[in-house]
Amino acid sequence: MLKSSGMNEFTADVCVVGGGPAGRALALALVREGCEVVLLEQHGPGRRAFRGESMAPDAVRLLDRLGVLEPLRDEALKVERLTVADGGRTVLRVDFSTFDYPYRYPLEIPQPVLLAALARATEAHGGCTVLERSSATELLRDGRRVAGVRAATPDGPAEVRAPLTVGADGRFSRIRTLSGLAFTQTPLERDVVWLKLPFPDAGDWDRLAYQVRIRGDRHGLFLPSADGLLRVGLNIPKGGFKELRARGVHALHKRLDELAPELADSARRALTGWYDTALLDIFSVEVPRWHLPGLVLIGDAAHTLSPVLGQGVNHALGDAAALAPIAAGALRPDQVPGASRALALERAMARFQRGREGDVKRSRGLQLRQERVFTFASPVAVALRRGVYRAVDTVPALRRRLMEPVYFPGQRRGASPEPAAPHSPADPGGTTEGRRAA
Ligand SMILES: Cc1cc2nc3c(=O)[nH]c(=O)nc-3n(C[C@H](O)[C@H](O)[C@H](O)COP(=O)(O)OP(=O)(O)OC[C@H]3O[C@@H](n4cnc5c(N)ncnc54)[C@H](O)[C@@H]3O)c2cc1C
Repeated sequence: MLKSSGMNEFTADVCVVGGGPAGRALALALVREGCEVVLLEQHGPGRRAFRGESMAPDAVRLLDRLGVLEPLRDEALKVERLTVADGGRTVLRVDFSTFDYPYRYPLEIPQPVLLAALARATEAHGGCTVLERSSATELLRDGRRVAGVRAATPDGPAEVRAPLTVGADGRFSRIRTLSGLAFTQTPLERDVVWLKLPFPDAGDWDRLAYQVRIRGDRHGLFLPSADGLLRVGLNIPKGGFKELRARGVHALHKRLDELAPELADSARRALTGWYDTALLDIFSVEVPRWHLPGLVLIGDAAHTLSPVLGQGVNHALGDAAALAPIAAGALRPDQVPGASRALALERAMARFQRGREGDVKRSRGLQLRQERVFTFASPVAVALRRGVYRAVDTVPALRRRLMEPVYFPGQRRGASPEPAAPHSPADPGGTTEGRRAA
């Protein structure tokens, strides 16, 4: 039972730190399981610019199970195809309709829209107290157990006490640091500059397709966005942003010209300063153990990934969906009495990590392999890369082998797939197609 035992003291079953996709989805899943939750988010609503917007089909399935897919229908864009071009020629085409799963299409959903939908559903359900503009600053301890957090809120300092604290506070997780859990951070070879441009009218630009364009050791992601714009992610050498910035915004225009010369005019009109861009410093974080007594990490806090193949948001949602029933089961007083609750929680968190880390490792492995392929520069290596993409393009079995672990790992395992609701954006026969593209 949630009670506020003083101005700034809260108790709950679960204290969630971080209101990104992982924290918000977890809060909703937990209240649906009957848990009382306090969620802390350091920012106010809507303060997110460039973040992952691509939901793989498995993530779409999770959103449907959380009951937030249908309300998002008008604000999501269903993506039907993916193409890879290398040296100006298309070497791979993927049509998502050819995959035989109930949820077969990725969706583009801006993060503020996704987070607002999760927040609305949680509020409508009840059971979650949200402390916005509130930052967790310390862990409360009860012997060796984590017992909650201390936080700075607009109303002054606060304490949130709970048998389970969840660090869902992202790639620079303070909870991870405060916990003392060991982790390794590995920089990847490049960073990414994100920007948005008007969607081009001309040429072969398809509003329902992801495009990956590679030229030598440079590549860019060109993703249709649900707001009708084109989201572009351009790779730059590690730490190269400072140098690029020093050379002026025209250096960025030139970099874009190499991959998409037809965007030259619109880029020069739309991109007049660095304030129109966001840098993603790419590194990977591995945390061998995600939990301590009374504490567990999820999402980017537990496993920061690279943006290749759009996996970060999907794993954040996957963690939330997996953790909620496990945590709720261990917290239920009727099933787990008194003193053994702490032990049951510890075992539950270990089970949660075991259940999730395989998928995360597979994504990390795929990303690292893909990253390496993107850096090929010698003529022989580039020819080999094109040959592999062409083989994948022409052999359906190879295509399935490459794409299914990225887009459908949950549905592939048959992890309780549920049919798409009629007219939901995931529904191949639904009405979303082209809606946002108009
Ligand atoms: C510029 C950029 C582009 C990206 N592009 C892609 C992409 O194309 N595809 C993709 O899949 N992924 C992408 N990502 C990664 C993706 O956004 C993340 O994987 C995903 O958001 C992880 O969700 P999360 O909830 O774990 O963490 P986050 O989304 O980082 O959310 C963490 C939340 O915790 C809050 N917080 C932090 N510290 C505290 C504290 N002490 N107290 C209270 N609250 C706190 C933060 O304000 C934040 O709201 C991108 C990320 C960035 C930054």
